[in-house]
Amino acid sequence: MKKMLLLAVTALIILGGICAVSARSEKDKDVKEQPVTENILPKHNHTENCENTSAEPVQIICILDRSGSMQSLTEDVIGGYNSFLEKQKKESGTAEVTTILFDDKYEKIEDAVNLNDAKNLTSEIYYARGNTALMDALGKTIMETLGTMAKENICPAKRRVLVMIMTDGLENASTEYSKAKIKSMIEATTKEYNWNYVFIGANIDSASEAQSIGIRADHSANFAPDSGGVRETFERMDEAAKDVRERGKVNENWGD
Ligand SMILES: [Zn+2]
Repeated sequence: MKKMLLLAVTALIILGGICAVSARSEKDKDVKEQPVTENILPKHNHTENCENTSAEPVQIICILDRSGSMQSLTEDVIGGYNSFLEKQKKESGTAEVTTILFDDKYEKIEDAVNLNDAKNLTSEIYYARGNTALMDALGKTIMETLGTMAKENICPAKRRVLVMIMTDGLENASTEYSKAKIKSMIEATTKEYNWNYVFIGANIDSASEAQSIGIRADHSANFAPDSGGVRETFERMDEAAKDVRERGKVNENWGD
């Protein structure tokens, strides 16, 4: 009987110990809880040097779908993009352009080049092929932009950034970045660094697609997959870029 009691007491002590340990590790986890950008984006510690970063040159980043389904629209994309550049070159202030063409491959055709030196698209550069790996294109673009800023001691929260996405279909080919990961990255750069994102899509519900990756519904727009739709797409991009260059952010009614 005594032995039984001893066993029971020992079991209770052991059980108590386990509970205490697990309670402590829960507490440790709380203490180690990190701000939103931790483990999502490369680390940037704001210092007084960050004050040296100017808002300009504004970073205008175009992520353009060139997947096979864009085939019938290539001429319109070339014309639309070129007229977008022409209009932006007339705006006051300085800007740099980064342009990515993506299908299941990723091709950066401009890398933070001075807006005035940004080259026109041609049919040798822009043609349709392949599948739609939008998440990988977004992930790489965000990481590379932050990487360049870190190297050049630019504070990502002080420099104005606009990322514009044009796509004509649902994501179907990314291998590196999940939708959940991209959502965290977009939310973190929007919240911590005031980056602007706009999403323009054809053949999909752009508002719900945008929201599913952390972009506000009113910063999304649908375009008709025809000449008029593509022309309008680049006009919307021009408006967004004007907003960011003039006021630091895309107008709240931009998507209307
Ligand atoms: Zn900073």
